[in-house]
Amino acid sequence: MEENNKYVGESFAKHFGKHFGKQLSDEQWHAVSDNDKSYDGVFIYAVKTTGIFCRPSCKSKVPRRENVMAFNDASQAAAAGFRPCKRCKPTGMAMPDEEWISIAADYVKRHYKEPLTLQELADACHGTPYHFHRTFKKIKGVTPLAYMQDLRISRAKHLLASTSDSAARIGQEVGWPNAPYFITVFKRLTGLTPEAYRSKHKRNEEHKHEPF
Ligand SMILES: [Zn+2]
Repeated sequence: MEENNKYVGESFAKHFGKHFGKQLSDEQWHAVSDNDKSYDGVFIYAVKTTGIFCRPSCKSKVPRRENVMAFNDASQAAAAGFRPCKRCKPTGMAMPDEEWISIAADYVKRHYKEPLTLQELADACHGTPYHFHRTFKKIKGVTPLAYMQDLRISRAKHLLASTSDSAARIGQEVGWPNAPYFITVFKRLTGLTPEAYRSKHKRNEEHKHEPF
């Protein structure tokens, strides 16, 4: 899944070159892994996959070390294009909900092909599942899982209309690796089985239905 390799931080690195953070030292890595409060104010860490930066003590799920960069302070991390974590508030200010959820929605767009749970999404976006779910729904009008489901259905429709891949293959491609489950959900949401959808829309394949 190539798309998952599009790290937020790497595109920023191209634009901000010399301001980009450093690899974590072993000492810094231990501080992050242990949520060590005594390192708060000493350095900031940023996670390339989510584009968010945190205090060492942040209670968010510990990221993979290779995705983490260290900065001296919050302003450096912000200058490199990272956004402050909603949970540990490394700049001392809360991130507006709109901004947080816009980052979260981008994350879902890049990762919906993975079979993600609400817990995993909330972890990636540095929030508790309950708070994340509520805030997402407030801003977007749909729950995060419904949002992800819409992306999957759009992508599945596009693939059914424009390829001859099997339903099982397409289910796998859009994040529903269990074929019977994919077929059931697809039918519930569109009123058609994947095969019926395909025969109805195959003739329109010259119209490219881009999912986003
Ligand atoms: Zn944090």
